[in-house]
Amino acid sequence: MRGTMLYGPRDIRFEERPEPTIVKPTDAIIRLSATCICGSDLWPYRGIANFAELPTPMGHEYCGIVEEVGNEVSNIKPGQFVVGSFAASDNTCVICHDGYQSSCVQREFMSTAQAPILRVPLADGTLVATRDLPPKELIPSLLATSDVLGTGWFAADAANVKPGKTAVVVGDGAVGLLAVLSAKQMGAERIIAMSRHEARQKLAREFGATDIVTERGDEGIARIKEMTKGIGADSVLECVGTQESMMQAIRSTRAGGFVSYVGVPHGVQLDGTELFFAEVHLHGGPAPVRRYLPDLINLVLNEKFNPGKVFDLTLPLDQVAEGYRAMDERRAIKTLLRP
Ligand SMILES: [Zn+2]
Repeated sequence: MRGTMLYGPRDIRFEERPEPTIVKPTDAIIRLSATCICGSDLWPYRGIANFAELPTPMGHEYCGIVEEVGNEVSNIKPGQFVVGSFAASDNTCVICHDGYQSSCVQREFMSTAQAPILRVPLADGTLVATRDLPPKELIPSLLATSDVLGTGWFAADAANVKPGKTAVVVGDGAVGLLAVLSAKQMGAERIIAMSRHEARQKLAREFGATDIVTERGDEGIARIKEMTKGIGADSVLECVGTQESMMQAIRSTRAGGFVSYVGVPHGVQLDGTELFFAEVHLHGGPAPVRRYLPDLINLVLNEKFNPGKVFDLTLPLDQVAEGYRAMDERRAIKTLLRP
């Protein structure tokens, strides 16, 4: 088979790779219905993350049909349609039971999913199967639950979004947009999306944003204060991972409010004194998508919402390099790849 490899900055190749096979008795092999490119894939693509070993395989968002399972897999069966998280987890350890499967004691990060066939470790814990094969038109939304929606949902949950509250979303990438959708689903009364990109503002509004703020940094913070009686927002969802976005989030939050952070941080440093006097709750990290998967899959299957709208470019998998370019140049919000 052919799979996606990153050779260096802006050098993506779709090339011959060994076909995955069962390595451990807890593995499953799935044939992907769709995969996609994550905003976090752009960091190494742009040469910001350093990999000790290049080339490296890419991709961690996936859904598809189970082809084969190891002999210790009991819940997941060949022929089922499944979705899994970007972090494989046993779903049985104490961390998993507490709902933090993305930090499972047996965690393995997925990294070979931009390919037609994928090995999934800890299949019983990682994968969630649907009862029936889903209709084709729901595949993009089901794929979204695997990471981008699950992460946006965690952003809203960790920021304590509640009915009647004001939520601010910092970042208009795919995760930020689905954080807006998640905040809407959780009943936030006012949802302020911070975006200066017209197509993204439009989608944010479709997903439930009530206000758009185009200012950034100190000006952005001043706008949020103005809109919240001078005190700041109840919940601020940081979906970028830069110093500027993190400070914008913390400084836009009222005392006693909640800041979630789900963008992989790059060079973020916090000042202890400022943090002390901000008096906000901080909660974030790699989203425990597995905790939310059953509910999110049901919301999609019952057509309660359409997170798949975040994919504004669909390409055959062998054009994956163009998918990266389109996202890098912000011509596309998120690229779906069809094997
Ligand atoms: Zn675990």
